[in-house]
Amino acid sequence: MKTNEYMEQTEQYVLHTYNRFPLVIDHGEGVHLYDTDGKAYLDFAAGIAVYALGYSNDDYKKAVKEQVDKVIHVSNLFYNVPMGSAAEKLAKVSGMDKVFFTNSGTESIEGAIKVARKYAYLKDGSNDHEIIAMNHSFHGRSLGALSVTGNTHYQDPFKPLIGGIKFADFNDLESVKAQITDKTCAIIMETVQGEGGIYPATKEFLQGVRDLCDEHDILLILDEIQCGMGRTGKLFAWQDYGVQPDVMTCAKALGCGVPVGAFVLNKKTAEHSLVPGDHGTTYGGNPLACAAVNAVFECYEKQHVVEHVAETAPYLEKKLDELVEKYDCLAARRGKGFMQGLVVTGRPVGEVINRAIENGLLVISAGSDVLRMVPPLVITKDDIDEMIEKLEKALQ
Ligand SMILES: *Cc1c(COP(=O)(O)O)cnc(C)c1O
Repeated sequence: MKTNEYMEQTEQYVLHTYNRFPLVIDHGEGVHLYDTDGKAYLDFAAGIAVYALGYSNDDYKKAVKEQVDKVIHVSNLFYNVPMGSAAEKLAKVSGMDKVFFTNSGTESIEGAIKVARKYAYLKDGSNDHEIIAMNHSFHGRSLGALSVTGNTHYQDPFKPLIGGIKFADFNDLESVKAQITDKTCAIIMETVQGEGGIYPATKEFLQGVRDLCDEHDILLILDEIQCGMGRTGKLFAWQDYGVQPDVMTCAKALGCGVPVGAFVLNKKTAEHSLVPGDHGTTYGGNPLACAAVNAVFECYEKQHVVEHVAETAPYLEKKLDELVEKYDCLAARRGKGFMQGLVVTGRPVGEVINRAIENGLLVISAGSDVLRMVPPLVITKDDIDEMIEKLEKALQ
């Protein structure tokens, strides 16, 4: 089939909920994707922060293929071989206690919300608990996750959402304090806001929220779906802040392409929340997903992925700062590690992205005016130079 035939077929039969860029991806190799016309794209989007290891990593592919040959799916009514080790790895690297595997980010948020409500319910037996979420946050599209997503454009057509959600301003501790009542059971936020425009939490804010949670026995839920798995130069972004969440959500790079998410609980929360009958999933944590998780952690260790991000990120930041200096249409850079945003002014960010794609560079947007870069975590300085060259062409 020809490129336009794939596009026409998709538009005819797939519900139109995305305005897709006019290219059809055929395969990937390293940090490049190739379309059906054979054109190469340097990928600084990585399937939206998913493909941390780059494309066609041999160790990863081998592990996933071996699991395909053994068994892809086993229900949660039975034990399976890779699940325990995948959970052990995730628990050990986070210093947390128990893992529940899901199929996506939004499902891990649903689980985290249920954990928070159950924790509070066990304390006082009441059903009127509240959760504080942040304006400009993004936690997913299912109704619970949407309810804590601080974006009225995403929410309005789907109301009524779940009740008891209050919103505060990110990086404004007083606004969080103002929303706390004796019904508050959790505060949920991204450690680095992604979709909302690439805003890292300040140290004072995250520490302040942690202190508030300790004071009032409120659970701190940190959404690490985008900023986690090494993207900021620590395995989890909160590890740079000296605070620990009670509940953490993961997805995206956790499976590096195989759909898998997780919510991870500390000991206190694990011991006082979900029990048999409270929560379940058919696919969640199946052998294919857990084999992928195991392979991801093994590749991270073997290739020193997180150390590489920490070492290389200053170079990316320096190069982007130079662009901000040079081009009037770039107002600022924000971000941490390999999660970076450039604020575009005077022209639509979509126009810059389209030009970048024409020049063989995949980048995406965040918020209304931010050009977002969430590349594979294995990019080198040469890849960064190639990105800058292509982005400059798009800006000129
Ligand atoms: C992508 C994302 C989600 C939702 O994950 P899905 O797998 O798309 O459901 C939730 N939170 C954050 C921070 C995300 O970036």
